[in-house]
Amino acid sequence: MTSFADLGLAESILRALREEGYSTPTPIQAQSIPVLLQGRDLLGIAQTGTGKTAAFALPILHLMAQTRRPLAPKQARALVLAPTRELAVQIGDSFKAYGRGQGVSVAVVVGGVSMGPQIKALARGVDVLVATPGRLIDHLDNGHVRLEGAQFVVLDEADHMLDLGFIVPIRKIMAKLPKKRHSLFFSATMPREIATLASEFLHDPAQVSVTPVATTAERVEQQAMMVDAGAKGAILIELLRNEAWARTIVFTRTKRGADRVSKALAQAGVPAAAIHGNKSQNQRQAALDGFKAGRTRVLVATDIAARGIDVSNVTHVVNFELPDVPESYVHRIGRTARAGAEGAAVSLVDNDERHLLRAIEKLTRQEIPRIERRANPPAVENDRAPPGRPAQRQQRGRGGQPQRAGQNQGQRQGQRPPQQREGQGGGARAEGRGPGGPGAAAQAAKRRRFRPRPQGEGARAST
Ligand code: AMP
Repeated sequence: MTSFADLGLAESILRALREEGYSTPTPIQAQSIPVLLQGRDLLGIAQTGTGKTAAFALPILHLMAQTRRPLAPKQARALVLAPTRELAVQIGDSFKAYGRGQGVSVAVVVGGVSMGPQIKALARGVDVLVATPGRLIDHLDNGHVRLEGAQFVVLDEADHMLDLGFIVPIRKIMAKLPKKRHSLFFSATMPREIATLASEFLHDPAQVSVTPVATTAERVEQQAMMVDAGAKGAILIELLRNEAWARTIVFTRTKRGADRVSKALAQAGVPAAAIHGNKSQNQRQAALDGFKAGRTRVLVATDIAARGIDVSNVTHVVNFELPDVPESYVHRIGRTARAGAEGAAVSLVDNDERHLLRAIEKLTRQEIPRIERRANPPAVENDRAPPGRPAQRQQRGRGGQPQRAGQNQGQRQGQRPPQQREGQGGGARAEGRGPGGPGAAAQAAKRRRFRPRPQGEGARAST
């Protein structure tokens, strides 16, 4: 297997990687680093969790070290564009960590915080500038930074940029870049608009593609709990009473939903914080820091806020509501099982969400084992979207009549027991970590774990 030394990276970088505990390059790193060191542009099809940040940061740092020159005021030698503030901060941290032996200067320029310190950092010039598009444009328009000296430009999570409506700002930024530059472009998916943008942005790129969307899903032990809509809050609290759920991200569809769930959890004595687009940048960072440090066991997040978040050792992901877009499910559950680790994901699926579950199973080409928790499960499951509503965009009222958490129906007839899933999804797992484990004892333990509390205990109504 290739080592980082085989890739020809500078000794100071190899030392930093040893300190980070990286022993072997991930596939995206093994494939991208050699072509980037040759100076070629790169089109990388990869999602977060594959090690793509190091795949672009390491060769950029290596090449920068070879051509060190004094920094020009208000100029950046490398520009990295990222869709979210959290991702930008993480990328900045990665450059600092991998470049610590060569004294690189890194500035992170994101919205939601004051401009002053950013202006000051840019004034001297920086080696690496990591930015979200909107704030970078503010600085460009005000003459705080210029891009004509940029040697390296990375566009990260391009498809997410498209989702967030950043394509116009990106084109505006591209117009200010020098024609002669080393360009890198990463995206998890390649819709037509993104492929067009890539072809404008890159010159004769090498193309590297890793981890098709379904593969991440295979490493995560998944379960769908069929529940009554009104019982979700109580079931979530019940799940989180299990201490094996040490670091859990709960996904909701809306910002208000995230606030409601985190409040209900806090009331039930589960330390939780919400992270979404209506929170200030400082609140978002504080929530993330508390979660990373283990002070907050549960982070309640919306898709936008959570994409790109890199927290190690996330034990569980809960989909409090399934996303409308099946790809988001894969991104969500990819918050656990990062960098080859294992993880578990539980989705609370009410009757109106069954068609979304089917769409996810179609995308990942996996059947997600069901656990029945509805008070009155239908005799015949109807997974189709309700008539008159497009499947992907269905508006679901979450509430309906609050209902009690159902009697435990146990695993439904015909459901594959966990041991049959071994080998398909990454083999045996530590007991208490996944929703289920191998063997009869684990199954019994699982039934205990998922048994509803006696009625009256715990929160009942929807959150
Ligand atoms: P990324 O896809 O860049 O968000 O990286 C996902 C996670 O993998 C981060 O926590 C990195 O620190 C970690 N990572 C990246 N490369 C390696 C490697 N070669 N060995 C071990 N961990 C890595």
